[in-house]
Parts: sequence; structure tokens; C-alpha cells
Amino acid sequence: MYLQLDYSHERDLDLDELIRRVEAYYPDADFVQLRKSYAYAERAHKGQKRSSGEEYIIHPINVAGTLIKLRMDMDSIVAGLLHDVVEDCGISPQEIEKEFGKEVAQIVVGLTKISKIKFKTKEESQAENFRNMVVAMAKDIRVIIVKLADRMHNMRTLQYVSDEKQKKIAQETLDIFVPLASRLGINSVKGELEDLCLRFLHPDIYYRLAEKVAMKKSERDVYIKDVIDVIEEKLLEYGMKSALKGRSKHFFSIYKKMMARGVDFEQIQDILAFRVLVNNITECYKVLGIVHSSFTPIPGRFKDYIAIPKVNGYQSLHTTVIGPKAERIEIQIRTDDMDEVAETGVAAHWKYKEGLASGHQKLDWVQELLEFNKNDSTNHEMLNVVKNDLDIGGVFVFTPKGDVRELRYGATPLDFAYAIHTDVGHKTVGSKVNGRMVPLRHTLKSGDTVEILTSKSQSPSKDWLNLVKSTRAKSKIKQFLLKIERDSNKELGKEVLEKAFRLFGTSFKNLKKTPEWESVYKEFSVANEDDLYIQIGSGKISPKDVVEEIPSLKKEKLIEPSKIEEINSYTKELTKKVRRKSNKDNAVIVDGMEDLLVRMAKCCNPIPGDPIVGYITRGRGITVHTGICERMSNSVDVGRSIDVQWNTEFSFKHPVNIRVITHDKPGILSQISKTINSIDVNIRSAMAKSLPDRKGSFIFEVEVKDYSELLKTIGAIESLEEVISVTRI
Ligand code: MN
Repeated sequence: MYLQLDYSHERDLDLDELIRRVEAYYPDADFVQLRKSYAYAERAHKGQKRSSGEEYIIHPINVAGTLIKLRMDMDSIVAGLLHDVVEDCGISPQEIEKEFGKEVAQIVVGLTKISKIKFKTKEESQAENFRNMVVAMAKDIRVIIVKLADRMHNMRTLQYVSDEKQKKIAQETLDIFVPLASRLGINSVKGELEDLCLRFLHPDIYYRLAEKVAMKKSERDVYIKDVIDVIEEKLLEYGMKSALKGRSKHFFSIYKKMMARGVDFEQIQDILAFRVLVNNITECYKVLGIVHSSFTPIPGRFKDYIAIPKVNGYQSLHTTVIGPKAERIEIQIRTDDMDEVAETGVAAHWKYKEGLASGHQKLDWVQELLEFNKNDSTNHEMLNVVKNDLDIGGVFVFTPKGDVRELRYGATPLDFAYAIHTDVGHKTVGSKVNGRMVPLRHTLKSGDTVEILTSKSQSPSKDWLNLVKSTRAKSKIKQFLLKIERDSNKELGKEVLEKAFRLFGTSFKNLKKTPEWESVYKEFSVANEDDLYIQIGSGKISPKDVVEEIPSLKKEKLIEPSKIEEINSYTKELTKKVRRKSNKDNAVIVDGMEDLLVRMAKCCNPIPGDPIVGYITRGRGITVHTGICERMSNSVDVGRSIDVQWNTEFSFKHPVNIRVITHDKPGILSQISKTINSIDVNIRSAMAKSLPDRKGSFIFEVEVKDYSELLKTIGAIESLEEVISVTRI
């Protein structure tokens, strides 16, 4: 068996041919379902044409054809035939579900969602986001495989659309779908897509390459045959029988090489690749030995992807040698099974012969990828995969118009509102997710469509800070609250000062017109009237001091102690009222002091429930340490410590780092993450490291309300069998 998949546009493909191809590998398939979906799609698309002028149905047929080549299950093939009927023919997902079952309907709905994404940027990071989004949205990985088949056929027939559209679609394919195919290990699709992208993005280079490769074709065919004969002969000497094939490499990989080395086509030597397929792993290494002893290997070009498979599951031996005619040739050696995985990647998991026809495999492929990655150097790749799976990276939601927004994991409709516009955020009164009313604390999921309801009379309140996840939303709310506080301080200050002057029978209005008023600004170094009010309102300047600064009042001896007393008690009362409202702002209460800058020490990072002590720092307010913090107890200046208490009215999520040491076991990271999420604790980040003795070390940054929630989290992780220790750091 030698798989070389070709996905070219097949004009004559019809139902009978599809059935024949499925029968070839799965005689017991549900052909009734296949016939039914075919007839359904044909009826739905009746009268619609492709840009090529052909009947539209040729497109879904080709998509199904590709899925059959990948040996996908019947639900995927049926979904391939129906993939455009919801979007293009106005058929409802409910009807698809009624006619073809839930699985097919879900795949078709997933495809429709992906087709609504507006890919508009070329920026690498953005492209990565979109790829993650596609993965996150496709709860069922088959959605992505059908999408790739769809894109494959669209690329195959791209010459029929306008130049501008060609470039746009090809760039999008290169940015989004080629990396997806690569990550899923579907190399046959990846290789073809890349060549097609080159053809439409850089036609001049593509056709020059095609011409040169073609020019040498007859010459090369002879050469390939010679090389195969020589290798086969060598292998036979050692009693090895194997399938051998040679081909010219994909244009795109030649192009990449030309770019990377800055050389022209003539200087690229190894444009030929040979593949040796054998029965088992022992034979792979045996063939490698024979090849290396028969031809001179190029140093540094041997790669053992059998011992260390690629993250997408790819396994093979690669080597480059000086061939029989003194030319460099690349030789890949692998088993038939490895070859199937190399060509079809994750799709291989759905092939019929393994009886994996049912869905719900969402996580399994990730688990399998993880098993390949016990090696240290690939840890970051592994984490990327896990990250996508767990959505730690973010969630992707739609505006009612279909624009995409990326939000932090755990984001709420309020985060979304602030992502749209600050004014929308401030005025939010409610939201609809997928058409249903939800509370503002509702957690959004990838793929949700979010609508925000606003009201002119709405404004942010402090508890909103607990409802949002994003830094942007938080800072916008804080800014607003700060302004409100300034405004209320201003009003308070003005009220107190006016009252004070009235007591002395002086009109404030008139006083401001006199030159003596100017001296007040100077004395208290304030810029203007508003500033003075704010300072008074926030308690930094007392109204008594201001009154005493007015020369005319002093001169006429109007300032009596009883009146001063009255001003003071009035000010106190008013201030108390305002302060009581703002006391919820700080996590920590410092006895007898207000408006102090309080921050948590980085060395011990206290959370509510920890015994705490405050430490007065010069110019930086008060730093709060845990009672057992070593930095604190080593500190000489005991006189600067101060009693502090947790503010019970203050509720906030605190980030805490915990280290988990485990026995090395595939999927352990994902298992721990799931455990943490299952008790409703959010993970902000995760890091992994391999330790000697087959152990793993993970550091999780989690968000907890207080000490008891932290204990609960640690307890839950400790209960996992493979976990050795859990420590707060
Ligand atoms: Mn399509």
C-alpha cells in the first residue's frame, strides 16, 4: 500500500463513484444515508452555479470525495455533502437534524459558524488567534476536517474567481488552513494547499518552477527509476523486501528552500524525495543502516521522528544521502501505518476499520498527541495544544453582525460590551447570548453570539469590577468610578465650604471676586476652584483652614471657636457618609486611617484568610505581608509595622501560584486543569517542566477568593493519584 492522495477537481464525480469508493474500504457503510444526503443536497442546490459555470452540486460532491480519500466516517461524508445547504439554501439546522441526525447537524452548524468568521488580517499573531478560534469553536474535530476538504476544493477551482479574491483566499488559506492541516498532521492536504497557495499568490514563481521541473521530467523519471533500482538491489542483498517510491518534492517546499537559502532553482539539489515503506519499526532502522552504508549520508540531515514523533503524531526516519549520480536525495523510511498517519493525520482516527465511527472524540486526539511528547524540548508545543483544548488562551465570540472578538477565558457579556466601546460598557443593562437573555455575570463560550442592551440612565458600579475579566474593562470601570469619586468629593467640598462661609455671614460668591481670595489658591497650592473643592472633599484640606486664611474675616475677629467647632462637626458628619460608601474599595482595612495606598507584598502574596501584617513604606503607602513572611520577620525596623485587617465587604479574585509535582503520565496536565476547573476555579496560566526520574513539575496561576478556596483547590489536586505534592509558592 502506498498512499499518495490527490484531491484534484473531479468534474465527473457522481453518486455511483462515491459509493464505489466507500465500498472499497467499508462495504457495510450506511449507503441509504449517503444516497439520501446526496439527493437532498442536489435538490437544495438546484439551479445554483459555481463560478466555473458548473452545477453547484459538483462542489459538495468533491468535498465528500476528499473526505472519502481521508477515509472519514459516514457522518463526515454526509456533512460534506450538506455543508453549504444551511448557509446557501436557507435550510434550518433543525431540519438537518431531523433528516440526518444530531451529529451531522452539529458538524454542518459548526461549518456554518466558521464560514461566518471574517478573517481580515495578515498579522501573524492574529492569524494564530483565528486558528485557535477555529479549533475552539469546533467542539468536534471533524468540523475542521470537513472545512479543510471544503477549502481544498475551493482552492482547486480558484482560477474561476477574480484576481483580488484569488489573492485574498489564498493568503487566508496559507495563514489559517495550512497551519491547521499541519497541526492535525494531514500532510497530504497541507502539501497540496501550499502548492495551490503558491500558484495564486506568486504565479510567476510557481509557473517558473513548474516549467523547470517539467523540463527535466523525462530525465528525472529515468533517474528516479535508477535510484530505486539501486536501493532495491541493496535491500534485497540483506533480504529486505519493501515498497519504494520516488517523486519530486512539492513546489512550495522547493520555494521555501530557495527563499531560506537565497538561491535560485538550479542551486537547489535535493528536489527529489524517496520513500521506503516497510512492515515494522525494526525494519525501518535496518533499512536506514543499509542506506547509510551504501550511500554517503549528509551530516546533520538525519532525523528520527520515530523515537521522537512530531507533535501532530508524524513518525518517520528522514535522511539525506549522496545518491548514485552524486546528487543529494532525501529518503524517508517508515511503516505502512506511519505512512497512513503521515498522509491523513488525525483523520486516520476516524477510519472505519478501527470502528471509530462515533463522535465525541473531542479530547482524545489531544491526549494522543500528548503521549508522544514526553520529551522536554517539545514542552512548549505540547502546552500550546493543551492550551487550545482548555480554552485558556481565550474565547471567541461574535457580534450580532458576525464580527469576531477575542476575550479572556471566563469573560462575561460586560467584558464584551467594553471590548465594543467604553460607552457601550458604561451603559450596559443586560445582554442576550444566542438570542436568550442572560445575567451580566454569565460566562461566555467560544462561538456565542452576544448582543448588548443599553440604557442612557445606566452607569457603572463598584461590583462591576467583580463581573469583568479583562484589564481594559477593569481600568475603564475604575476610571469612571474615580471620576465619580472626584465629582462627589468636589460637591462635598463645595457644600462644606459654602456652609462655612455662611456661618460668618460672608457670601462665597462675593468673596471670590476679591483679591484676597487669590491668596487662598497660593497658600494651599491648588490650581483652581474645582481643585480646592476636591481637596476639601477628600479631607486633605479642612474648611476651617481655608476660613482662617481670609484676611478680612481675621481682621474683624469673626472667627470664634464655637463656629469653628460647628464647621468641624458638620464636615465630619458629611464626610463620614461619603466615606462609608467608598470603604469597599480596599481589600485591607488599616485602623484609623483612610485613603491609604495599600498593596499586597509580592514576596508572600497574601490572600484573604491569611494572617496579615502591614508595613509602612516610604512614599508607597502600606505593604501587606503574611504573618509568616520571612522578608517581613527579617526586617529590622519593627517600628514601621502596623495592624491591618481583611475587609470582609471586599470581594475579589486573587491570583496565587501553586506548584504541582507529579509522576510522568500522558494527559496529566489536562487532568489537573480539568480538576481545577471542575471546582469553578479559574486558571490564569500554566507552565510545565520535566524533572529527572520521570517526574513532571507544573506551576499554575489560579484565581481564588480566599484561603479556604485555595485549600479546596490544593485538596482537589492532591486527590489525583499521580500527584506527588502540591505547594503554594
Ligand atoms: Mn463550500
